[in-house]
Formats: sequence, structure tokens, C-alpha cells
Amino acid sequence: MQAHYDVAVVGGGTAGIIAAVQAGRAGARTLLVEKTGLLGGTITNAEIANPGLFHAWGRPIIAGIGWELVTAAAAESGTALYDAADWTEHAWRQCVRLNPTIFAAIADAAVLDAGVDLHLHTMAARAADAGDRWTLTFCTKTGLVDTTAAAVIDATADANVVTLAGGPVEVEPAPQTATLNLHMHGADLAQVDLKAVDAAFAAEVAAGRMAWTDVGSSGIGASGLLKRGGRNTMHLRAPDAHTSEGRTAVEVAARAIARRLQRFYRAQRGLENLQITAAVETGIRETVGIRGLATVTAGDYLGGRLWPDAVCYSYWPIDLHLDDPNRWVDVRPLKPHTFPTIPRGAMLPVGMRNLIVPGRAAAGDREARSAFRIQATCMAMGQAAGALAVLAARTRTDADAVPAGDLRDLLTAHGAIVPPQA
Ligand SMILES: Cc1cc2nc3c(=O)[nH]c(=O)nc-3n(C[C@H](O)[C@H](O)[C@H](O)COP(=O)(O)OP(=O)(O)OC[C@H]3O[C@@H](n4cnc5c(N)ncnc54)[C@H](O)[C@@H]3O)c2cc1C
Repeated sequence: MQAHYDVAVVGGGTAGIIAAVQAGRAGARTLLVEKTGLLGGTITNAEIANPGLFHAWGRPIIAGIGWELVTAAAAESGTALYDAADWTEHAWRQCVRLNPTIFAAIADAAVLDAGVDLHLHTMAARAADAGDRWTLTFCTKTGLVDTTAAAVIDATADANVVTLAGGPVEVEPAPQTATLNLHMHGADLAQVDLKAVDAAFAAEVAAGRMAWTDVGSSGIGASGLLKRGGRNTMHLRAPDAHTSEGRTAVEVAARAIARRLQRFYRAQRGLENLQITAAVETGIRETVGIRGLATVTAGDYLGGRLWPDAVCYSYWPIDLHLDDPNRWVDVRPLKPHTFPTIPRGAMLPVGMRNLIVPGRAAAGDREARSAFRIQATCMAMGQAAGALAVLAARTRTDADAVPAGDLRDLLTAHGAIVPPQA
């Protein structure tokens, strides 16, 4: 690791990789630190390799580096892209199904080609504003390493750097449920009496050996989970998943569910050879949000507010995954031709200088965050954060004071779509 960087990006996930590539391509000395062995964050480690939404109401709303990497990964794996003109209210049909391993490899190459100094298996340990620069300490496999940076991007999704620096973070006391993405192998459904499987599962629940939420709270039952091949359905509570302790509890609980599901299914006729494997990490929907210079509310989002300092568009319904056996999700679609935007101020924690937070921990109320946490929006915020950090470092100004025109020029030069000035 070098002694000083213009831009340090902590967290190489959905937002962080795009931020680092943007900063590197703009010529900044850029560090990217990631706690796991894989770039891509929730896309790869949790295998939620389904980024959306890049179009809304038939119109491109997010392009730039995120779209470049996503379309490259889709092309390499032979994935057909959706027809953007065929817009329906089922927005999730326009997510792009990716091969997570190939996406991670493409992200590796993009980051390294941009000249970014990449450190995997490295975690933020200390962060402090020293006036003219940030002092940072990282925990590596061989010890603690110190460096400094003119601007820092906290792309940990949990505002870990903001917390380390004593910044304003609000912990969600009852966060959305988490999901461990499962894969089921060895099931020939044509040979299985699905009604009998559901009845056996109901008996296990009645006996207290299984929970309805083991197969998801959507009422799909044990047969429904089988038909989905285990994908993106399980619901479990995930309090304090922004901490190592909370995250440990979630991972252990999720794998215990996977284990008892495999035991249950293998006891059913025709499923004796079923195997369940799972993503390396549980997908976490919600942990914390920063208190930002601007806060996106549900009203702003549903009303398609064009913020004066908007850096990108966003599109997804309000989408809260509930801890309720009778109601899986609270989904509130957007009215036709609504184009919500994300303000720069939502990425800037109150009272902090040159610390930028793109991704799901940006400032919003719960409802708005449940919508703008979507991957394409996190990527667009990441690109905006990368550009903002470069300009702040280059001109020795605070990220809040970087002229909007300069930010727009840099972003559009790198292919991003920036909403018009209100
Ligand atoms: C179950 C589930 C289903 C979803 N379905 C979809 C979908 O279909 N389509 C869609 O577009 N979105 C979906 N989402 C939402 C979306 O995946 C996430 O909200 C988004 O990926 C978050 O991006 P991020 O950059 O904020 O965080 P992440 O992608 O999680 O990146 C954070 C990165 O920071 C790293 N990190 C964390 N702490 C530290 C630290 N202290 N030091 C160093 N590194 C650290 C992590 O390892 C990770 O790589 C889903 C989410 C979940 C959980």
C-alpha cells in the first residue's frame, strides 16, 4: 500500500467498484480495499447477480461504467439483454441476470486497467479526518497498515468508515429481512408429489422443527421453494448486520436453515439425492443509513423529485421485505413516467469533510432506501462518488463545494447520465 492516495475507496461492492474505476480512469491515485476475496459485494458474495434498473419507462436512466461492466458480463456469458422498449409494470423483468464469477473477473480487470491499487482481504480499522487529509488504517493478513487520502469513499454498505470516524449513522432497529441464496441440485420434480412435500413441511412446522420463514414468507411453501431451485426466497432476521457480531449471527442462522431444509427435503420420496449449496454470504438488505446533507423521503422518491444537486436517476418500487409470515413484501410501484433522482447531499454525511457514501447506506428514509438500494442506482451513485472524490482531491475543495458543472462534465465524459439541473 502506498503512503498517500488522492482517493481511497473502502468496500469493493456494487457501488465501490464503479467508484474506484471512475476515480482511476479520471487519473486519480486510487486505492480500493475489500474485506472479502471477491469484488462485486452483494452481486457476487451473496449471488444477487441481477442488477437493475438501467431503463425506466422505455428510456435509459443509468449508463456509464456500471452499464459497461454489466453488459460486458452479460455478453461474455451469452445472456440476452431485455427489450427496453417493452416496458411493463413488472420492473424486475428488466434486471440483467449475470454470472457472478464472470462479473467479478470483469470488475477485477476494469479496476486494474484503471490503475487502481487493489487490496482484497483487507478491512478498514481506523479512519480520522486530519484536516487536510484522511488518515486511514487497514487490517491486512500481515498486520495493520497506515495510509492517507485526500478523499474517502465509504462503499461498505454499512457506513463502517463513517462510524469509525465518529460520523452520523442511524442504525435501523428492525431492518428488512435477509436472504441466503440457495441452489438445489439433484431434484427431479417430475418424480415428486409436491402436495405431499407441502403437507410434510406443514407437519414439521406444527411440530416446531421448521419455521414457515425457512422457505420464505411468501406462502410459496416447501414445493414453491423447490420449484424456484432455492433462489432468493428465504427470509431471516438480520439485526446489527453492520457489525461483525451481528453479521456472524446472521450467517450462522442462515446456514442452519439451509441445513435443516436439506435434511427435510432428503426425507421426502423422490428427493433422497437433493443437495443444497448456498452463496458464500447472506444477502443483507438493510443495516444503517447515514444522516446526510439531504435525505430522500418516500414522498421525494414516489413523486419523482428532481433534486437541484441530483447526480443520478433511480428506478425501483418501494420494496420492503417484511418479517411477517402473512405478508412477504410491502411493494409500492411508481406511477407511470416517474423518474426519481438521488441528490449529491444524500451521499455526504453531516459534519464530515470529503467523506462520500454511495450505495444502500446513503441518506434516505426507510421506504426510499428500500428503492434506491437497487444495484443500478448503487452503481450510478458509485460513479458520482468517484467523480466527486477526484474533483475534491484535485481542487482541494470539500465534496460539497465542488461545482455542479464540473461534476456533470466529468461524469458525462465517462458515459454517465446526469439529470438536468432543476
Ligand atoms: C436478497 C437480496 C435480493 C436483492 N435483489 C436485487 C435484485 O434483484 N436486483 C437489484 O438490482 N438489487 C437487488 N438487491 C439490492 C442490491 O443487491 C444491494 O442493495 C446493493 O448491491 C448494495 O450495494 P452496495 O454497494 O451498497 O453494497 P455491496 O454490494 O454489499 O458492497 C459492499 C462491499 O463492501 C465490503 N465491505 C463491507 N464492510 C467492509 C469493511 N469494513 N472494510 C472493507 N470492505 C468492506 C463488502 O464485502 C462488499 O464487497 C437485493 C439485495 C438482497 C440482499
